[in-house]
Amino acid sequence: MTRSHLFYQSRQRRPVLDQARGVYMWDVDGKRYLDGSSGAMVCNIGHSNERVLEAMRRQMEKSTFGYRLQFETEASERLAARTAALCPDGINRVFFVSGGSEAVESAMKLARQHALAIGQGTRWKVISRTPSYHGCTLGALAITGYAPLTDPFAPMMREMPKVPAPRAYLDGLDPDDPATGAHYAAQLEACILAEGPDSVLAFIVEPVGGASTGALVPPAGYMEGVQAVCRRHGVLLILDEVMTGAGRTGRFLAGEHWDMDPDIIVLSKGFAAGYVPLGAIAARDGLVEAVLDGGGFLHGFTYAGNPLACAAGAAVIDEIEAQGLVANAARMGGALRARLDGLMDRHAIIGDVRGRGLLLAMEFMADRDRKTPLPAHLNVHQRIVDIAFDMGLIVYSRRTRDGLEGDHIMVCPPLIVTETHLDEITQTLDAALAQLGREIAP
Ligand code: PLP
Repeated sequence: MTRSHLFYQSRQRRPVLDQARGVYMWDVDGKRYLDGSSGAMVCNIGHSNERVLEAMRRQMEKSTFGYRLQFETEASERLAARTAALCPDGINRVFFVSGGSEAVESAMKLARQHALAIGQGTRWKVISRTPSYHGCTLGALAITGYAPLTDPFAPMMREMPKVPAPRAYLDGLDPDDPATGAHYAAQLEACILAEGPDSVLAFIVEPVGGASTGALVPPAGYMEGVQAVCRRHGVLLILDEVMTGAGRTGRFLAGEHWDMDPDIIVLSKGFAAGYVPLGAIAARDGLVEAVLDGGGFLHGFTYAGNPLACAAGAAVIDEIEAQGLVANAARMGGALRARLDGLMDRHAIIGDVRGRGLLLAMEFMADRDRKTPLPAHLNVHQRIVDIAFDMGLIVYSRRTRDGLEGDHIMVCPPLIVTETHLDEITQTLDAALAQLGREIAP
C-alpha cells in the first residue's frame, strides 16, 4: 500500500494497522501487538468496544452533524451533563472541541474573556511549567515547556512565563516532605510577583505529568500549594487533564487525588478513548456566566458538540462506570508498578519508575544513585520503544530529534488490562531491556 500523499512529522514509515480489539492491535501482515500505551494514552477502554460502537451506530442513524449555532443536540446535552457530574462542585459548564490542543486554546481564551468581563483586562499571561506539554497549536505551544517543540516557532508565538516542574527526584529533594511541595509552590509565587500579579491570568498544570516529565507525580503539598498561590493573587487555576482524565490515574480526574478546586478543567484523549476526535473544557459556573453576560464567548469550532462525537463520549463514560475501570486503573496500576519496580533489580539502566494508576513511566539513567543521564546519542528511550515494538509490545516515548529532556518511556495500557496482560507487558519489556543491554554493552 503506498501512502505517498500522506505526511506526518517525518518520512518514517510505520506498519499499516488492520484491526484492533481490546488491548491488542494487528497490522496487515497479521502481526499482533499488545497496546501498552493506549496509543498515545488515549484508548482507555480498549479498542472496538461493542457497546460504544453500537451507541455510535444508533447516533449515526439519527444525525451525524448539527451546527451548534443552528441546533442543540440531545447527545451533546447528555455528555455535558455526564461530564459536569464527574467534575468538582461548582464546575457545571462544559464546552466541546475536537482534541486536546483545541481544548487548551479554549481554556486560555475563556480565561482571557473572563478577565475582560470582570474588568481585569491587564491579565493575559498564562504561566506553565518546564517541562510540560499542552498541545501543538501556536497558542498551546506558547505554554508548552519543551524547547525542541517550541524553539523553531519562537518569533511566531508569544512565549509565556514558565516555572520549573517539581522534579524532586532530580533536585535531590524528598517528594514526601510537604516542604518540597511548598518549595516549588514558592517558585510559582515568585514568578507571579516578578511578572506582576495584575498581568497574570492563569496557571496551567498537568496534575500528573505526561510524556514531557514522564508521569511526574507532584511532591507532597505541591498541588494544594500552587492552588493557594493562585487564589492569593487572583490567578485562575487550569488543570490540564487531557492525559490524566477519564480514569487513567485511578480517579476519574487526577485532580481528585488532592483537595483541588480548579477554575477550568481540560479534557480529551481518554474522554472519547479514541473512538472519535473529542475534547472539552469544563468551567466554573460563575466564570462562564460572567463571559456570557459580558457579550458571549468569542470562540467555537465548526465540529464543536458534534452529535456523533458526543454520543461516543457519553458511551465511553457509561463503559468506564459499568466496568469499574477507574478502580481497575488503580488496582492494575499498583500491580504494574510493582512489576516495573521488580525490573529495576534486573536492569541497572532503569533509574526511576513513577506515576499514578495506569499512567506510569520508566526513566533510564547511566547511574541510578547519582542520577547521571545516559549519552543522548544512544537515544535509549526510543531504542526501547523500537525493540519492544518489534517484539509486539507498544510503549510510548516522545520522539524528538535529539532525544533530550527525559530519557523515559510511558507504560500506560488500557484500563481494561488484567494481570495476564501485565505479565505479558513485563516479560516483553524485560526481554527488550536485555537486548538493549547487549547492544550498548561496552
Ligand atoms: N495537553 C496534554 C497534557 C497532552 O498530553 C496533550 C497531548 O499529548 C495535549 C494537551 C494536546 O492534545 P492533542 O494532541 O489532542 O491536541
